[in-house]
Amino acid sequence: MNKIKKIIPLLITALALAGFTAWKRSGNQTPNLKTLSDKTNIVPVLVIGSGPTGLSAALFTARAGFKTVVLSGTQLGGHLSEISTIENWPGTPKMKGMSLGTELEKQAAQFGAQVLKDNAVDVNLSSWPFTVKTSDGLVLTPLSIIIATGGEPKRLNVPGINTYWGKGVGVCTICDAPLNKGQKVVVVGGSDTAAERAMQLAPFAEKVVMVVREPALQAAASVQDYLKEYKNISVMLDTQVTSIEGDGNKINQVMVKHNQTNQQEAIPAHALYLSVGFTPRSDLFKKQLKLDSNGYIAITRPTHHTSVKGVFAAGIVADGIYNKASVSSGMGVQAAIDAINFLQEIGYTPTVEQTIAHQIFADTTQKTQVPVIATKEELDVALTKPVVIVQTIHPLCSLCHNNRKTFSSLARDYAQKAYFAQLDISKAADLAHQLGTDQASIILLIKNGKVVKQVKALNSDQILGFMKENLN
Ligand SMILES: Cc1cc2nc3c(=O)[nH]c(=O)nc-3n(C[C@H](O)[C@H](O)[C@H](O)COP(=O)(O)OP(=O)(O)OC[C@H]3O[C@@H](n4cnc5c(N)ncnc54)[C@H](O)[C@@H]3O)c2cc1C
Repeated sequence: MNKIKKIIPLLITALALAGFTAWKRSGNQTPNLKTLSDKTNIVPVLVIGSGPTGLSAALFTARAGFKTVVLSGTQLGGHLSEISTIENWPGTPKMKGMSLGTELEKQAAQFGAQVLKDNAVDVNLSSWPFTVKTSDGLVLTPLSIIIATGGEPKRLNVPGINTYWGKGVGVCTICDAPLNKGQKVVVVGGSDTAAERAMQLAPFAEKVVMVVREPALQAAASVQDYLKEYKNISVMLDTQVTSIEGDGNKINQVMVKHNQTNQQEAIPAHALYLSVGFTPRSDLFKKQLKLDSNGYIAITRPTHHTSVKGVFAAGIVADGIYNKASVSSGMGVQAAIDAINFLQEIGYTPTVEQTIAHQIFADTTQKTQVPVIATKEELDVALTKPVVIVQTIHPLCSLCHNNRKTFSSLARDYAQKAYFAQLDISKAADLAHQLGTDQASIILLIKNGKVVKQVKALNSDQILGFMKENLN
């Protein structure tokens, strides 16, 4: 009995401590605007991710009068940039996924949202205001955060998947389909997305085989009708991939098993594209926010509140069911309304924002960003300059993203010697063609309107070397 008496106070202390730590960790202290007095780089609404979720959220918070910054991540527009044609965006019968992303970005920017081509690399949600560090070295002080980081394509757990990843095995058909000219390729999956990937490959490949685990395609009826129009696409139902085989450097066949008979079959293939779902991109937040058992950020439905007050999550990072652009956009809007309500509840209004204007994040990196040529008129203006350096880029080219900072800083260093611009080949392929290229990561030297040199520059050293050789 005495022993129990001794243990009880210890237990109470331990429970209190655990409760306090959990409460602290949950970040649920009441935010107090007074704590902002010594803060800089304040971002009232920070949106992490620039897919339909993030850009729709930014439109609403910026339009409500709150300074909004979007960290785009490496894929500006998110998965929209991988959709050739989107037919189920309500109100627009047909448009390119990429154009939809651009329009959403423009609309949010119209109301003052700032999209930074930067990644969140570290977050601290344990105290308010929060801290977010970016890959470009910014340290931001968000008052509210909307997480819209989307999902990572799932990999199959079969022999060969890691050996051949990037050597014929991948996910991005819109990026790599031209490499499969005249080849046999396999697409794994039977959803709308898988069908889209097969149809992106069909104009290039000799043959596309869709391997579908289920006894029927899950793609929408209209999408299945489109599939039938491609004579070189065939579908194998009730079949699973069991291994990917090759010579160690490239694949040459995919082994599959027919579920009904357990029979194995070898499908000759030069490439395999996966379309077997997504895992939520929630790693950055997993130590600070509650996740569900599948790694989705847990939200308190019907709102988008996470386990930390002032932090909201929406789109496919928080939703394992509805993977559709319009649903993601709607969720982004809901999260935006939650963030606006949160800011208002803590007394932060657009009027307060004016009084602390000097502490609000002012983007200086944008000033060093080089212009992106998107129209014939812009190209014509650039070509009037005596010396022009153009870098071709593509939203899905991660090298371009990595080299952006080097190119921007060289543009500043060599501003007296040449006019610098970038050309996005996903938006202006015809202009790139006019300059004699159809690839990303090309640096062109143009003198008096004529291309005199072009090189593939894959890293900072090569870009720097090109400038030294040609502009010194
Ligand atoms: C090939 C294909 C075809 C599809 N076709 C259709 C269709 O026809 N109709 C339809 O409705 N849906 C379609 N979808 C699904 C649709 O694209 C998705 O549901 C939608 O894009 C999800 O939006 P999201 O904003 O939640 O995530 P995403 O679109 O994945 O966007 C996530 C964003 O987060 C950014 N990000 C990630 N990590 C960080 C970080 N650390 N810091 C900053 N940013 C970060 C990424 O760069 C990206 O911008 C298709 C998808 C694919 C892949």
